Amino acid sequence: MIENYPFKLKPLNYSYDALEPIISEETLHFHHDKHLKTYVENLNKAIEPYINLQNLTINNIIKQLEKIPKTAQTAVRNNSGGVYNHELYFSILTDQRNVTKPSKTLQASIERDFGGMEKMIEKLKSAAIGCFGSGWSYIVTDKNGILSICTTANQDVPDLYNFVPLLAVDVWEHAYYLDYQNRRADYFDEFIKLINWDVISKRYDDRYINF
Ligand code: MN
Repeated sequence: MIENYPFKLKPLNYSYDALEPIISEETLHFHHDKHLKTYVENLNKAIEPYINLQNLTINNIIKQLEKIPKTAQTAVRNNSGGVYNHELYFSILTDQRNVTKPSKTLQASIERDFGGMEKMIEKLKSAAIGCFGSGWSYIVTDKNGILSICTTANQDVPDLYNFVPLLAVDVWEHAYYLDYQNRRADYFDEFIKLINWDVISKRYDDRYINF
C-alpha cells in the first residue's frame, strides 16, 4: 500500500502496557500519542501547500528534500524524519514474551560484519551513548547486505540512497526520561531486550524493495 499525504498516525501493533516494565505505558502514550502524532500533523501542514509533494511516500520525500522549496525545507525535513524514525522505532519492538532471534542469513552477516551479536550491540550502544544531545543510532544495511552502525542528530534519517535502516534507537530524552531519567545507558541495555528480530530480519531480506 502506497502511503502518502495526508499521513496518518499509525497505531501501535501491541498494547500500551506490552513493553512494561522496560518502557512504561506512560512513556508509550506520550511518545506515540503526543510526540509522533505531532510529527505527523506538522508534516501534513508543511506539505499541504506543495501539490507535487503530496503523492510522495515518506522515503521519497526524504530522498528529495533538496528539491523542496527553501522556505519549507526545515519543517519538512524535521517532520518527515520524525515520522520515519518513529514508525521504524515502534515497529521493531515487541514484548519480552515474544523473544525472537535473527534469521540465519542475518546472523551470518552479523558475524561477518561485527564478529557476532554481542559485539554489534556493544558498538550500537557506544553510538547511542556517544550521540550528543538528541538523535538516533541505527543498524543499517547497504544494497549488498553489508551491515554498519550510524547515528544522526535531531530527526535526521540515514542516507536512504545508500542504506536501509534496520533498527533505530531513539536517544531523545522523551524516549526514556520518565523511566530512566538521565541513565541513557540503562535505557539502552533494557531497550535492546525488546527488539523483534523477526521484523529486523524481514527488513534485511526486503532491503531491495526498500531502496
Ligand atoms: Mn522519540
